Amino acid sequence: MSEQKTSLYEEALKTLKKAAAVLNLESDVIEALSSPERILIVSIPVKMDDGKTKVFTGYRVQHNTARGPAKGGIRYHPRVCLDEVKSLAYWMAIKNAVVGVPYGGGKGGITCNPKEMSQGELERLTRGYAAAIAKFIGPDQDVPAPDVGTNAQIMGWFADEYYKIVGKTVPGVITAKPLSIGGSRGRGTATGRGAFFATLEAAKAFNIPLRGARVSIQGYGNVARPIARYLHELGCKIVAVSDSTGGAYNPEGMNPIALAEFKDKTRTVKGFPGSKELSAIDPITVDCDILIPAALENQITKENVDGVKAKLIVEEANGPTTPEADKILHEKGVKIVPDVLANAGGVTVSYFEWVQNRMGYYWSDEEVDEKLKQAMTKAFKDVYQTAQQHQIDMRTAAYVTAVKKIVDAMRALGRI
Ligand code: GLU
Repeated sequence: MSEQKTSLYEEALKTLKKAAAVLNLESDVIEALSSPERILIVSIPVKMDDGKTKVFTGYRVQHNTARGPAKGGIRYHPRVCLDEVKSLAYWMAIKNAVVGVPYGGGKGGITCNPKEMSQGELERLTRGYAAAIAKFIGPDQDVPAPDVGTNAQIMGWFADEYYKIVGKTVPGVITAKPLSIGGSRGRGTATGRGAFFATLEAAKAFNIPLRGARVSIQGYGNVARPIARYLHELGCKIVAVSDSTGGAYNPEGMNPIALAEFKDKTRTVKGFPGSKELSAIDPITVDCDILIPAALENQITKENVDGVKAKLIVEEANGPTTPEADKILHEKGVKIVPDVLANAGGVTVSYFEWVQNRMGYYWSDEEVDEKLKQAMTKAFKDVYQTAQQHQIDMRTAAYVTAVKKIVDAMRALGRI
């Protein structure tokens, strides 16, 4: 990210300033909200399979804890840097407030390429990272989870290392664990399921028919696959998908389960039978009704925004739209369910997992799904109502809703 003129974090804070203007916040309050409470940078030496030691850099940023413990995922990706982790931690603080889970915001990451590492190397890296940040996390301090490049197995290794350090089993220290060690039912599909519920609400609010709607998805990993399936079951056509290696397009629609099986076998969606080849970025501009960016940040930019044909964008990725592109989309009348609302289903079920861990009593699939639906529907309605009330776009409305809750908590604690 360092090649950008302004940092991702500076760009991210623009939304805060917009919300602050609506809420008439003073500059000292804006400064307090813009300053991450704690930034950890750690070096993690890992014995690689060839016998040599490689030192990785890891980060954990606790943006704000006024509403509760910091909460947010851990990303393993070659592009991870402090600027990115800071932005992601800030977005988590906003997201947690939007969806009403009692957490502040945090995020972690390690600069690495998990696709090129063996399971043993990944395990040693994860244990090293857990040990390096163990003093600063815990069920009442900061609760990590997965993000891009991490999964339930990595959460399991992380939990084990933490348990050994503190000398007890504390499952609420991390979420999206495997079911066998206190994971929650429904967590694996939660982000997609939550985005699906948000899409149902958006379709109603903005009058967009879903049956037969053409859907284009950038990404085909953990968060993209479930929403593809739910929308397909509802009668939408999945016309485009992509991953980091390329994409597949078929205006007649593609079967999401067959696509997942194809990708698991060949490690790419490129070449899916009956489809035309696309590049990784092409799904952003293909002819469709609903666009779902479900990969990384900065994908809809001022360079490609004019090519966007969708009527509705549901942001499953964090930060997929740059502020410049966002403005243009708004002027074009494209409806957006912003990331901090659309992808909040993941952290919502993480919250359910943390609650279950602390009670030691576990819920059924149906209970989790019903509670997730309620949380997402309420969050959508709150944001939509705020947008109507102030005559602002959905993204600014989400920030207004969230910033107000964070400011109220900071005032109640006497921090501002
Ligand atoms: N990484 C996910 C996100 O960006 C989930 C975070 C969590 O469950 O804590 O929302």
